Amino acid sequence: MQITDSYPPVSSPRDSRPRRMRLAAALTLCAVGLLAAVWFVAARPIRRPAPRVVPYSALLSGLTAGTVDSIAIVPGEQVLGWTSQGAIRVLYTSSEVEPLVARAEAAGAAIAFRRSPRGILGYANVAIGLIILAALVVVLRRHLGGGNGSPGTELGDEVDSSTTFANVAGNDGAVSELREVVSFLSAPERFQRVGARTPKGVMMYGPPGTGKTLMARAVAGEAGVPFWSISGSEVTGFIVGLGVMRIKSLFKKARKRGGVIFIDEIDALGGRRGRNQSHNEDDRTLNQLLVELDGFSPSDGVVVIAATNRPEDLDPALLRPGRFDRSVAVGLPTAPEREAILRLHAKQRRVPLGGTVDLERLARLMPQTSGAELANLLNEAAIVAAREDASLVNWTHIESARDRLLLGKERRGFQASDREWRIVAMHEAGHAVLGVLCCPDDGLHKVTIQPRGQAMGVAFFSPDGDQHLHSRRYLEGQILKGLGGRAAEEVLFGSDAITSGARSDLQHVTRIAKEMVYHLGMGETSGLMVLDTQNGSASAETHALMDREVRSIIERLYARAVDVVRAHRAAVEALGNALLERETLDGAEALGLLTANGLPEAGTA
Ligand code: ADP
Ligand code: ZN
Repeated sequence: MQITDSYPPVSSPRDSRPRRMRLAAALTLCAVGLLAAVWFVAARPIRRPAPRVVPYSALLSGLTAGTVDSIAIVPGEQVLGWTSQGAIRVLYTSSEVEPLVARAEAAGAAIAFRRSPRGILGYANVAIGLIILAALVVVLRRHLGGGNGSPGTELGDEVDSSTTFANVAGNDGAVSELREVVSFLSAPERFQRVGARTPKGVMMYGPPGTGKTLMARAVAGEAGVPFWSISGSEVTGFIVGLGVMRIKSLFKKARKRGGVIFIDEIDALGGRRGRNQSHNEDDRTLNQLLVELDGFSPSDGVVVIAATNRPEDLDPALLRPGRFDRSVAVGLPTAPEREAILRLHAKQRRVPLGGTVDLERLARLMPQTSGAELANLLNEAAIVAAREDASLVNWTHIESARDRLLLGKERRGFQASDREWRIVAMHEAGHAVLGVLCCPDDGLHKVTIQPRGQAMGVAFFSPDGDQHLHSRRYLEGQILKGLGGRAAEEVLFGSDAITSGARSDLQHVTRIAKEMVYHLGMGETSGLMVLDTQNGSASAETHALMDREVRSIIERLYARAVDVVRAHRAAVEALGNALLERETLDGAEALGLLTANGLPEAGTA
């Protein structure tokens, strides 16, 4: 954890299924709305005069008596008549109109013929039906990938050997595993000769953006075979038979020409079968996939690579021998791997880097980021540079792209009162002081009260290396750092003046404390008993006990944070005042100021 103030959650860009469902729902809604509107408009002229319904004999006697002075005949349906008292209506289902016309003529009434008003509605219905049908066809074509090739639906026909392992940085373990798959594909005889059964499927696990698609493409590129891709979310949904059809046609094409079949987001279709009544259609699609997997032999020159970031959701049937019998874990890159990815992308995209850019340092400043995010960062930096009309990308461009990606856009012209700025400045100074004292491994990178995204200010830390194991001291340090903002508000402005600015801080520290108690066995009395979320839930008493412990951890640490702020009030105020004056201080400046005001070196609180 490096940032101690709120920034908007980044939503997954991959959730295409709900979006498609929403599109379908919106289309249907539009169609229904249109239908209702047309019906209403078309029906109005009939309802408006609200003619009184009378027997046929009454119409005839009205004509004879001369009270009905005009009629309108709708052949085969009805006759309308107008009297001085208003309109009347009779049913007239016969198409034989001669006798009626003769009677009316004899009575001297005006006679008109009308087309059935329902006819108009009928046309409208047909027209709307056609519109809905057309919309459905469009949606279906998208699903089938036969249409205008929306992204991801295009099934790779061409052999594209431009992507190779040279385009992949880091991920060494996964790459060496996949190199073997390349040799199955490019020299199958070698394996058949000695009776080796080569694997049919490889399951890649890992968070989004870590290069799974890239590596699958590279397998096809290295072997010089076609790449066929499909996403699990494209073959799920409520359209009966669609998923089965797409899977069938994908495998048919691939078996004809060989190649790599890549199934992204396989969890979308390969979730456990039968877990949900409404997923019957998806179950059928999954069954079809299993049938296809069993139906080809490695000598067909086909390998299936699937990717997921939720391996625990997969139906176990997928992982049986003869199906996805190899699995490759792809993790977030380590600091040296991040550096290699940054270097590779800078080279590939020919980003001209200025002398101030230190990619090693940048890699260290970006813990827990995927290859895709790193590539995006470089691109954003290049955009910032281009906007300034610079010919080189400098560290300042990178820094501003990084802030923007992590914290959101700067809010220029944001207004707040002096008192509010004072509170924000002291709040951030509180985070900084607690962070420096209690999180010795997290270097202070920057403190700012420049509003960005949803935050009015930020104290920015960057850990030295990637942490894998977290000690209790470390986790408590993170909580103390998170509580530093609120503690500073309370100490400097009084407990009546504390603000909502600590909202996301409190959420964050609660999350950590919960993790400690519920999953890490670091509670004080619940001890090593942890909550097993997979197998059933704990009793209400256990929950209550654990929640009490979460609370006591936070309260104990908050009291400590308040003590620390009291003890180092001078340092907090000095940094806060400097922020009010200069808005942003980088890590070294802030640290210098803090030690000059009596803050001891790290790790002593
Ligand atoms: P995934 O399939 O795991 O979600 P992708 O393969 O789609 O991730 O990665 C998206 C992009 O991120 C790639 O096209 C590439 O530009 C970049 N990228 C991700 N990981 C790496 C890596 N290890 N080396 C080079 N580029 C990478
Ligand atoms: Zn805060």
